[in-house]
This record gives sequence, C-alpha cells and structure tokens, in this order.
Amino acid sequence: MAKQEDQFKKVISHAKEYGYIFPSSEIYDGLSAVYDYGQNGVELKRNIREYWWKAMVQLHENIVGLDSSIFMHPTTWKASGHVDAFNDPLIDNKDSKKRYRADVLVEDHTAKIEAKIEKEVKKAAKRFGDDFDQEQFLATNPRVLKYQEEIQAILKRLGRSLEKEDLADVKALIEELGIADPETGSKNWTDVKQFNLMFGTKLGASADTAMDLYLRPETAQGIFVNFLNVQKTGRMKIPFGIAQTGKAFRNEIVARQFIFRMREFEQMEMQFFIKPGTQKEWYEYWKEARLKWHLSLGLGEENYRYHDHEKLAHYADAAADIEFRFPFGFKELEGIHSRTDFDLAKHEEFSGKKLQFFDPEENKSYTPYVLETSIGLDRMFLAVFSSALQEEELENGSTRTVLRIPAVLAPTKVAILPLIKKDGLPEVARRIFDDLKWDMQVDYDEKDAVGRRYRRQDAAGTPFCVTVDHETLENDTVTLRYRDSMEQKRVAISDLHAMISKETNMSHWLKRIS
Ligand code: ATP
Repeated sequence: MAKQEDQFKKVISHAKEYGYIFPSSEIYDGLSAVYDYGQNGVELKRNIREYWWKAMVQLHENIVGLDSSIFMHPTTWKASGHVDAFNDPLIDNKDSKKRYRADVLVEDHTAKIEAKIEKEVKKAAKRFGDDFDQEQFLATNPRVLKYQEEIQAILKRLGRSLEKEDLADVKALIEELGIADPETGSKNWTDVKQFNLMFGTKLGASADTAMDLYLRPETAQGIFVNFLNVQKTGRMKIPFGIAQTGKAFRNEIVARQFIFRMREFEQMEMQFFIKPGTQKEWYEYWKEARLKWHLSLGLGEENYRYHDHEKLAHYADAAADIEFRFPFGFKELEGIHSRTDFDLAKHEEFSGKKLQFFDPEENKSYTPYVLETSIGLDRMFLAVFSSALQEEELENGSTRTVLRIPAVLAPTKVAILPLIKKDGLPEVARRIFDDLKWDMQVDYDEKDAVGRRYRRQDAAGTPFCVTVDHETLENDTVTLRYRDSMEQKRVAISDLHAMISKETNMSHWLKRIS
C-alpha cells in the first residue's frame, strides 16, 4: 500500500514539474478537486480527445459529432432523473468529521480482499514456477474461492441495498464489515444520507425573474434532446450514433484522488440509437470495440478488466465498466450502458414532443433504444500518464525517469538538439525544426550537455530526439534517438519526417483497432 501511495505521489509531482497538471488557482492555495492543464497537459489531452474522436466519428460512417451547450433547459434534468436520483450515499465519521461515499468505503474494503487474492497468486506463481497455471489456480484454490465469494456477497448486498434505497442497510454493512475511517481508524459513523451532485446556478439579471439552472453533470442529455435535429438534418438511419466531448460538473462528496475524481471534468460520450430488441448484441459489440480502442494504445492488456454492474442505474438494463489499474488499484475508466428507451421516452413525456424514428423497412415509428459509451477524458489522461511514468535502472548503475507515453499521444513528438551552440549547428537544427513543425509538435533545445537534454526529454515524454553534430555539416545526417530503447541511429535529414511520422501518426495507430 505504501509503495502504491509513493508511486501516486510521484505521478502528481511529476505532472506538475513537467507542465502537465497544476492545481487550479494555486496562488490562492488551490481549489479542491479542480485542476488546470499546463503546456504539456493540454497537448496530451488534445491528442487523447482526437484519438477518441477519430476512432468514433471519422471511422464510423454512421456516427456523427455534436457540441451542445453546458446550460440546458432545467426540465431536461427533471426528465433525465437527475433532480430526483443523481445522488451519492454519503456518510460522516463523527470523530474525524471526515466525509466519505458509503459505497466507495465498501468497495475499497473489497479491493483489500482482492489484494489478498493477488498475493496468493504471486506466492503460488513463485512456488510452481513455469508450471503455474493462473487461471486454474483462480478457479480451484479454496482460499481464493472463499475470498471471491466474500467479495461477491458484499457487492451484491451493497447493490441491492442501494437499489432499494435501503440506506440503513448500507450503514449496517459498513458496521458489520468493521470498516474504519481510512485516515483515523475510527468506526464512529453517522447514518447514510443521499446527496445530490448537481451544481445549481441562476440565469437572468433580476432576482425575481431569474431561472434556476444546473451545470450539466454529463454530456449525454445534450445528445438526447438533439436526437431528432441530427437524425433529420443528417438523414441518419438506425442504427446510428452521436458523439460529443465536453465539460461536465459534479459536486463530488469526496474528491481526494487527483484528476480521477474532479468537480469539473471532461467527458467523451457516444449515444448509439438502435432498434428495440437489438440492445444485447450492440451492448456486446461496444464492450468489445471500446476495449480494443484501449488496447491499441499498448498500455498493457493486464491493466484492464471488465466489471459488470450488480446495481443498475435507474435507466439501464445492462451496464459494465472498463476498469484500469490506476496507482491506487483497479477503478472505473469507462462505462458501457444499455439505456433502453428511458431517455428519449422521458424527454417525450416531459416536452410533449415526439422523439421517434420512422423505420422504412418496418413501415412504422418507434422510440429507439440507446447504447452509451462514456469515458472521462481526465481519467484516461491519468491512465496514460500514471502507467507511462517509470523509474528505470540503467546498465551503468544510474537511474533515469522516463515517461513512456504512447508516441501517438505524446505532447511533443520530437526534440531537435544541436550538440553545441556554435559552428553553424544551431542553424541546421533550426532548419530541421522549421521543416517538421508543419506536421507535428516539435521542441528545440540547446541548453546544457546533450545527455542532460536527453534525460529532460525522456522525463517529459518526448519519443524522439534528433541531434545535430559536426558530421551533419559533412553529410546531412543526424542522430535519431529513441526514448524507450535509448537506441541511436544515424539517419539522413531527408528521411526524418517519414520516420517520425510513421511512428507518431494517428492513422497508423488507429489501424491497430480493426
Ligand atoms: P464513479 O462511479 O467513479 O463516480 P460514475 O459511474 O458516476 O463514476 P459515469 O456517470 O458513468 O461515472 O460517467 C462516465 C465516465 O465519466 C466515468 O467512467 C469516468 O471516466 C468519468 N467521470 C465520472 N465522474 C468523474 C469525475 N468526478 N471526475 C473525472 N471523471 C469522471
């Protein structure tokens, strides 16, 4: 646990030191769970967004984009169920006065049991060596099976109690499991209460005519209310999807996990409108398609897993998360939800307008069902960034910090480094910079010894460095250095553009998905 915490602290401080993420309004001591993206962070975020957008919109002829506003008519949130049901169960510790999400306390407890399973696996792997069959071990070892049963029983009870709004049972569960305040160890808990997560604000100048509004807690509703606009003007036929990225706001009860849980964050959502009755197959399709998108980035298959929901939201008939191994354990990165016709039917009911599709093949109109994929851009950022940050021991005994961000997402693709600041080397380096800058983000750095500059670029996540030296003046070749392997190759200046583009180009990476 302490090692995990240390690693997470390193992630946070590295993100700041290298211009990725700053606490918001830091000169005023920051604002809880709100963050700003610095010069490198903004590029990484843009690249992740674009990688998602291209995979969803550009590569699907039946998915189109949308950019709806953050403010929406307040009835939207009555229809969607957010006014009545967008709550989290909160619990306070009477001694420490700290506030927690009751469901998260229970889930963290099951994560501890899961850690015991992982420990058993590690021990057995060591004992059996090459003969170790992990799958068989997980399916047959009595101790592991007991732990798994325990986890399932706890999550089932939590799911059932939350579904029935039986908050007394959630508290009873916390007490029965002996869950203590993670910071102080106290078990002196208040009752569990529901807390609505939407931020309210007002529209209009005078107090008596002002209208109560909410900052949207998800981007999805902007898609639902525009369903017919897009369908009609785009002449879309079912099945089709609408994708959008944008800010969402939630007054999270506890937000102590850096950009994992923020009060202002960005979502990338896609609502796929389908014929009722086909939701099962589309659910399976999108579960698989979204995981493939993640795997194409090469962050390691072992860092992902599905988690099927026990407790379904009021709108869903099936739901699963894609979880990622964050520095604090496996947690939700993306949700795939089969939402039935809940949203469109509710908006029909509250607006009095028909939101239906005329199916020419069936010669009838119906309210489509919806399959949703919803991922947090900031959470994806954290997944990429935290898994990329590594301390590496080198052959000569020294260590280097390297940020192995997939080249396609890296903020800067290549740094141009003249070996020294004279003899005409900077001029050649500038010419290379000017040649490459049209197609990629390039950095120019001539300060310090070249070894230090390499280390700086490794830690900033730049996948390639190009060094201009005296030989360059003789034969127009440079040294191309690879961040991950530290391999160095002598290449012609005229080949640089093609070589770097091949490794960083989005289309090249996106082709791995199919
Ligand atoms: P959680 O259970 O972690 O609160 P959720 O199930 O409420 O998440 P959804 O409503 O399904 O999340 O939102 C879709 C995605 O938006 C999540 O998978 C996550 O990546 C992202 N997300 C949700 N809340 C936040 C937040 N407060 N900060 C950053 N990202 C978030």
